Amino acid sequence: MVLNKMPEKLVWMFEEVDTIKMSSNELKLTFGGKGAGLVEMTKMGLPVPEGFIIPCRFSLYYAENKKWPEGLKEQVLEAVRKLEQKSGRKFGDITKPLLVSVRSGAPESMPGMMDTVLNLGLSRKIVEKMVTSNPRFAWDSWRRFIMAYADIVMGTGRDKFDKIMDAYKAKKGKKLDVELTADELKEISEQFLVEYKRLLNADFPENWEVQLEAAINAVFMSWDSERAVAYRKMNKIPNYGTAVNIMRMVFGNMNDKSGTGVLFTRNPSDGEKRIMGEFLVNAQGEDVVAGVRTPTNLEDLKTQKPALATAIYDLAHKLENNYKDMQDCEFTVEDGKLYFLQTRSGKRTAASAVKVAVDMLHEGLIDEKTAVTRVAPEKVEELLHKRISPKEKKKPITKGYNASPGAVTGKAIFDCKKAIELKKKNEKIVLVRKETKPEDFPGMVASVGILTSRGGKTCHAAVVARGIGLPAVVGAGELEIDEEEGIAKYPGGSFKDGDIVSIDGLNGAVYLGEVETIQPEIAGEFAEYLKLCDKYRRLGVRANADTPEMAASAIKNGAEGIGLCRTERMFNAKDRLPKVQKMILSETQADREAALNELRPLQKGDFKGIFKAMNGKPVTIRLLDPPLHEFLPNYKNMLVEYTELRVNGVENDRKKELEFVIKKYEELQEQNAMLGHRGVRLGLTNPEIYRMQVGALIEALIESEKEGIDVQLEIMLPLVAHVNEFKRLTDMLKPYAAELLKAQNYTPKHPVKWGTMIEVPRACLTAEAIGREADFFSFGTNDLTQATFAFSRDDVEGKFLLKYIDEIKPPIMVDNPFEHLDVDGVGRLIQITVADGRKGRADTHKGERLKIGICGETGGDPQSIMFLHKADLDYVSCSPFRVPVARVAAAHAAIAAAQKM
Ligand code: ADP
Ligand code: MG
Ligand code: MG
Repeated sequence: MVLNKMPEKLVWMFEEVDTIKMSSNELKLTFGGKGAGLVEMTKMGLPVPEGFIIPCRFSLYYAENKKWPEGLKEQVLEAVRKLEQKSGRKFGDITKPLLVSVRSGAPESMPGMMDTVLNLGLSRKIVEKMVTSNPRFAWDSWRRFIMAYADIVMGTGRDKFDKIMDAYKAKKGKKLDVELTADELKEISEQFLVEYKRLLNADFPENWEVQLEAAINAVFMSWDSERAVAYRKMNKIPNYGTAVNIMRMVFGNMNDKSGTGVLFTRNPSDGEKRIMGEFLVNAQGEDVVAGVRTPTNLEDLKTQKPALATAIYDLAHKLENNYKDMQDCEFTVEDGKLYFLQTRSGKRTAASAVKVAVDMLHEGLIDEKTAVTRVAPEKVEELLHKRISPKEKKKPITKGYNASPGAVTGKAIFDCKKAIELKKKNEKIVLVRKETKPEDFPGMVASVGILTSRGGKTCHAAVVARGIGLPAVVGAGELEIDEEEGIAKYPGGSFKDGDIVSIDGLNGAVYLGEVETIQPEIAGEFAEYLKLCDKYRRLGVRANADTPEMAASAIKNGAEGIGLCRTERMFNAKDRLPKVQKMILSETQADREAALNELRPLQKGDFKGIFKAMNGKPVTIRLLDPPLHEFLPNYKNMLVEYTELRVNGVENDRKKELEFVIKKYEELQEQNAMLGHRGVRLGLTNPEIYRMQVGALIEALIESEKEGIDVQLEIMLPLVAHVNEFKRLTDMLKPYAAELLKAQNYTPKHPVKWGTMIEVPRACLTAEAIGREADFFSFGTNDLTQATFAFSRDDVEGKFLLKYIDEIKPPIMVDNPFEHLDVDGVGRLIQITVADGRKGRADTHKGERLKIGICGETGGDPQSIMFLHKADLDYVSCSPFRVPVARVAAAHAAIAAAQKM
């Protein structure tokens, strides 16, 4: 006996989808965001035109096989029959024709990236019949459909059709589409049909089945259109495929009792709780956003058409209450009857996201955890820089890449030398260049912002600007910059040397003149939101700070301590460097110690400043890390000066001095300084340096505590690869510290902790042994990543790493491991280190848990923080400016982990 198996269901009417059985995420993955919204609105009983959905997976199938899977065609036709029944209309029927839209819709919103065809099913016969009741509407729909079909389904583009339309309007002396009469629209349609035949060498298809199949294929293919692919790549959207939504058309262009509109249930730029939207009478589809005619504010619609406005507001509120999130909706009114055509969670600025989350929490719509997850950690960065006020009315003159955040205003200057000159007169300069090169660096530093016409997000200007925290807009391709003449042209105007311009590095916008800005501030809803994050996160958040000023800004941003204070920054200060050089160049031990003794009180002062700023919070101080030759003057400059003196036969003290320093430099210099004589290796061969630093630290501790400061000192030894390096050094330094304390008869409130930076793979693999000795670990992921990959960071990014990610197809790797922690390699090492290190510590310290943090750059990256939370670290440490981002990311990580359990 043969069992008749029910064929698999491939196509779904809106009302056939079981929204209870599927989570909202599953709904979106299967039917796309638009489809899921239509299904939900139908379930809620909102007025939605009838329709059906072809799920996302079939667009992937079509892309691969260039045909439909078995059974799809039959099920589409079956759905068409149901649609005809429900709507009481029929495809191809002259008196009651069914017309549909064929709409794309992916699981994640990709606004405007894919295609939608409206008015499908129209034919000449139907139009001619429609003409008897509403001629203008009939011909308007017909001309729209011919053009959309040619453009989207047949791929002709719309230029040729736009030109015909414009020429026609010009001839008639008319400006707007709505001014055209029925007869005129008819004439335009005729011209369109001729153009269609000319371009495609075929007649326009009048058969609905042909139209429908071709339109579905066009929507399938729009998933892989150039712009969609580029958008997916930029936003890291997976290859989901797009669903196809086929639904009955409703006509906003039928008459003056019709129209179309869009709305947000709250303000997407500042989050204010008020419905914002626009409505355009007698219009279809995207006429509202196209900006041809000025739409009516929904606020004004309340007085103009109160009943309609009330109905719109009512449904908008219903939707927001149902989704418990700000919605972005599309609606259309056909002859007085309102329909909703789309709803999705509204895209918003960070400020709006924070306010909406906190407001909805207060309104009891969402709980605390949900409120936390409503703001993406990366977005928080927006709120930490000066930015352009949402109240600013000025429109940008052009846009480029948002290379480095911050909004600034200054004089446009096209020349680096001039920028440096003007900076001396305290002028604010925005440096305008085609692109920047390394030699432009001094000019960049002299400016408050950078604007270039070339390059992408990883060009020189972008990388340097981000590095020094300078706002930058790069690759503003519409700008025609003449550096010699000092003029920049853009479509519609130009500005010249000395004119005031503003840039917003957050969104890439360029403005003429000044703009209204907002200072970053952690207050109000933002402060409340961050507090909420602190309640849920488990990872501690510290900052990497080298100076009391940085420590203070870290505290302001909510840091719970310093995870890394690099003492070499203090060595490089102007008043210190000569003393450091003297120490390096000294020939006897006595000379060297004398030089170090001069440095000691200065270091002590630095440490006291930091202890004071961090009163009551842990401070990790790293002993000297870089190789010594890095503190000597520039080698090439010395050689040039020396050679000049020699060639000119000059014999003086300077020449002798240079000879000496050059020799010393050559002694110290290494082929591969990154892997060379530095960190604990230097500490072991030149113990007097670390002794000086530890001495300064202990003195600073005693003096600070006597001044009433609570000091929690953690001393960190860099670059340990072998436990004996750590052990030998602490065997020397700990007794020295004890001796100093004893000499002053002082017991610190908190015992000094001794730990190490874990940044060498061998240290990871022998973490158990090191864990027995150390009080804490802190991952230095910059070096650990370099060593794990054998990548020299400063070289590989420019040479091949970015090609690995962006150019080579398929890519060798998806992420830059210096930006996002490499989970498979570095991440594995971290897991091993945590497990073994904790075991070692527990063995020797009665089960006590080893404290483990991270202070490399990935410590401030949300994606990496997800992993670090799972890896059970105690804290992350990042730049003071990113501390709030890390607080939010850590809360997200904790909540995500709890949900998985
Ligand atoms: P996008 O995703 O680019 O917004 P849509 O699929 O939403 O594209 O459609 C484009 C426009 O056409 C929207 O303004 C939408 O409201 C309108 N539209 C889509 N389907 C219909 C329909 N069945 N009746 C009337 N207007 C429609
Ligand atoms: Mg839409
Ligand atoms: Mg290092």
